[in-house]
Amino acid sequence: MIANNLKNIRQRIANVCQKSGRKAEEITLIAVSKTVTADLIREAVRSDILDLGENYVQDLRAKKEALNDIPIRWHFIGHLQSNKVKYIADWIYLIHAVDSIELASEISKHARRLCRNINILVEVNTSDEKSKFGLSIKDTPDFVRRVADVKNLSVSGLMTMGPFSSDPENSREGFRKLRQIKESLESESYRLPILSMGMTNDFEVAIEEGATMLRIGTAIFGERK
Ligand SMILES: *Cc1c(COP(=O)(O)O)cnc(C)c1O
Repeated sequence: MIANNLKNIRQRIANVCQKSGRKAEEITLIAVSKTVTADLIREAVRSDILDLGENYVQDLRAKKEALNDIPIRWHFIGHLQSNKVKYIADWIYLIHAVDSIELASEISKHARRLCRNINILVEVNTSDEKSKFGLSIKDTPDFVRRVADVKNLSVSGLMTMGPFSSDPENSREGFRKLRQIKESLESESYRLPILSMGMTNDFEVAIEEGATMLRIGTAIFGERK
């Protein structure tokens, strides 16, 4: 089932890429494995998935341990509490949802202790929904400029979530805004190659609007309980 789902998704990605003049190689598919067992993740790995996304530190650590024989790139995609950074700082590949200076400083502190650099994305609340984390569009440029100076931390791009809606077209405006912020900051010579946007319901729109990382759970592993 997972192999088939992935085949389908990759075909859809290829189709949109072709229609919108993009290359499928520019796009990283992150399989969001929250609530999914390690055995099912192994099935996805057999279909060439090596990027996995989790949003709870405790689950992420348990799965990392259960799957330590595989060179998985672990993405933290949820809201990260500062006091939990220490549990993942050693090996996390990318932290997608940084939206406060306190969190950035904490990540920096642990990265320095470990003599490593940690890549992060800045989360933007493009749909302006109160229930969502992330910076407002207005506050994002200044935040990126500040965080760019933090040691042992690299801001590699921006992340957002579409609005709660079943119509993917409702995500388009926010995705487009995210790309505009990226381009505007790049014209100040910041390097922000990654745009993490697009989930099961709206990943095709996200590709059309410039996504370089898709975070897809349900379409790969099925409905979550
Ligand atoms: C759960 C989750 C996803 C994946 O959602 P699906 O609709 O199942 O594809 C993507 N990003 C974040 C931040 C999530 O929490």
